[in-house]
Amino acid sequence: MTTLKWSDYYYKQVGISDFPSERVRVVIDDLSIDIDTPFAFEDRHDELPIEQFIGSVAKVYSLTTDTCRPQLAYHAFVASHRPNYMDGYFPITQSLSKEIHRQFHKTVSKVMLNTGFDVRLLDEQYSYIRKVPALAYLVAGHIVEMFFYRQDILDALLKGTIHIWLYTNVQAYKAAGGVAGGCYNSQHDCIQLVVSRLFEGFNQPTAGVSPFLHEFGHLLDYFDAGTLKAADKSSGWLPGMRPSDGAIYTPEAREAFIAGKRLEMDRYDRQVVKPDGLDPLPIGHPYVFQNNSEFVAGYLEMFFRNPHYFATQNPSLYSSFQLLFKQDPRDYWQADFPFYVEQNRAFYKSGQRPHASGLKVDID
Ligand SMILES: [Zn+2]
Repeated sequence: MTTLKWSDYYYKQVGISDFPSERVRVVIDDLSIDIDTPFAFEDRHDELPIEQFIGSVAKVYSLTTDTCRPQLAYHAFVASHRPNYMDGYFPITQSLSKEIHRQFHKTVSKVMLNTGFDVRLLDEQYSYIRKVPALAYLVAGHIVEMFFYRQDILDALLKGTIHIWLYTNVQAYKAAGGVAGGCYNSQHDCIQLVVSRLFEGFNQPTAGVSPFLHEFGHLLDYFDAGTLKAADKSSGWLPGMRPSDGAIYTPEAREAFIAGKRLEMDRYDRQVVKPDGLDPLPIGHPYVFQNNSEFVAGYLEMFFRNPHYFATQNPSLYSSFQLLFKQDPRDYWQADFPFYVEQNRAFYKSGQRPHASGLKVDID
């Protein structure tokens, strides 16, 4: 029996040792585990069914030609079917009481079963690989995390169908016309993402980059809650910010968004005229000032990853997200994911002149 400390290992990537001369072993960070030896966690009660665990590791390995190495948490969930193993992927769960926590996972399961939730894993032949429910769980969990306190918006999205198309590897993604590392395809109203990117920001105890959140921000920007369909162009708003959104309309979020976005645009324009890198600086990188859709996607991601810096720099814009999502990520983020903060500040401090902004605020 191998015994591990869950809290030290849940975020470590799992692979298969590939020395042909050796017996196959599962590698979890610095540990190499014999596949016939069961293992358990000293800080958790349950023992993992080893066959199911190995089966999950082998399945991801072969489906993705070893281009995707999920963390221990993912495989532990597949092997045990215990949703709590997935909590590291959903930082909000840290702030929930036992009962609400259970409700969170119940909501995730409900989303998975909803006919408006379409998650596919596609390979290079465009074949649709069905039996990977844990991936759908991961995606559904991210969505529920955003809308846990706005189930009305979530219901509206599901009435319009959420399409998430994942690809087994980069070749499969490119073959399907995927752009850059991940994208929202407005023609098909779907998010396209190489599956490994779903796991990218989770190799340390605190969640980091989140390509999924970013791309989901684009999907939200295109979603028209008035018609429950994706529009053919960017709106520049999140669902619930337009009077035409019906019952989910949240006017106070709209007002705060307009004021906060104006402030970001002013700060950005000031750097375009005079790139002195002096505070107050815009929170986002010049990348998100290209157009309204990037702005929505970029700030959505930052709201859930560096809420403290966001709230300090631009309280109005922060409160627009807070009012819309009816939650405050500062409650469950002790410290920001520093990369976005530092990288963005470093650009403005570098003295480079940012490109002119492509944003507008008076759109509807
Ligand atoms: Zn983007």
